[in-house]
Amino acid sequence: MSALRLKGARVVDPYRGSDTEANVGVDADGRFASPDLPLAGPVEEWDCRGLWLVPRVVDLHVHFREPGQEYKEDITSGSQAAAAGGVSVVGLMPNTVPVADSEAAMAQVLSRVAEVGLVEAWGIGAVTQGSLGQEPADWEGMRRAGARALSDDGHPVASSRLMSLALAYSARQGRPIPVIQHLEDPELSCGGVAHDGPVAARLGLPGMPGAAESVLAWRDIGLVRAFGGRIHFAHCSVPDTLEALASARAAGLAATGEAAPHHLLLTDEELASWHPGGMAKVNPPLRPGTMREALCQAVERGVITVAASDHAPHGALEKARPFAEAPFGISGIETLLAVLLTVLHHGRQRTPLEVMRLVTAGPHAVVGEPYAGVVPGAAADFALIDPQARWQVDPPRFYSRGQNTPLAGHTLRGQVVATVRGGQFIFREGQVVR
Ligand SMILES: [Zn+2]
Repeated sequence: MSALRLKGARVVDPYRGSDTEANVGVDADGRFASPDLPLAGPVEEWDCRGLWLVPRVVDLHVHFREPGQEYKEDITSGSQAAAAGGVSVVGLMPNTVPVADSEAAMAQVLSRVAEVGLVEAWGIGAVTQGSLGQEPADWEGMRRAGARALSDDGHPVASSRLMSLALAYSARQGRPIPVIQHLEDPELSCGGVAHDGPVAARLGLPGMPGAAESVLAWRDIGLVRAFGGRIHFAHCSVPDTLEALASARAAGLAATGEAAPHHLLLTDEELASWHPGGMAKVNPPLRPGTMREALCQAVERGVITVAASDHAPHGALEKARPFAEAPFGISGIETLLAVLLTVLHHGRQRTPLEVMRLVTAGPHAVVGEPYAGVVPGAAADFALIDPQARWQVDPPRFYSRGQNTPLAGHTLRGQVVATVRGGQFIFREGQVVR
């Protein structure tokens, strides 16, 4: 492996809170080197003028579908898609077939990701057996196997009793394991497939009220107050959820929240352009423009500290079904960074550090994992990004098997030029390496 010298990059490093132009060296062992010392052995040089170098990008919320639904995605294609998206670390949701709810299942999925060897995985174990919401899963066993968080994502933990047990378990850890909640009160969302509002009414689609999300947020905040532990709200999308989160954070509770890129970019008007197809069907559903604006403002106010793709690949035939029958989900890991740059940096003038914190230090803080950033000796994981490049989303060119995205044909601004993990290129010149 040759050493790397990256010249003139804008080093956007949220782990250290710094944003400066610098030359960066990577030694042949895959670690950042001291900029003042010569590199040993052969050295590859990159002219990085005009590019951002962003260390260790994390996508905290992805669905790789292996085992059980490899026709949608497997760990190889998902890892390749992550590399192409500039991502070094993925948070793997457990809703595979079978569900990752045991020590053995967790160990197996993590060893598969390591075998593929492109990206690192943070395993997320199920809260309940089979994510059925009835009995607790083997949290201790999964933690021993390397799980960094617990979630029944795809489904909520609807039972207050089970959520209180999970939070009490979280509270007992020296470093509380986060419980990631998919906020959806099933009695309120029952049968809904789109945001309950004028667009759904016009298209004749059963509506899902915003309260289906937010009532569970308020309940969970109450449970954290009572039982301790750490809660993380996945894909927040309605203003009242953001209120709940803001009040919890103001009270000093261990509560964090995430936004998905599609909720920051799109509104429920998008459904009409795909009607009657289900390409823009996602859970939680796309919301009206006023709610999209509130979500962007929550990011800007620091209420939301994480952006994650909720990468949910599906087969083409499944998503081509009529809206009510199509599965929920968008394939999003390869457009995550570009959407964040397009909306928050170019659209709303947020600084590079503010935007990149959402996919670096933000998710690291949720899981409590230490990482030093671009300092000598730290593992050289980073993305090189051209923040100005414009490109058109062309799903057949995805590495993901899931080509299901309503962003097809959209022009985004900001493109991943290369991804390096442990000092080795895993993506460069438009190609995944290995
Ligand atoms: Zn979810």
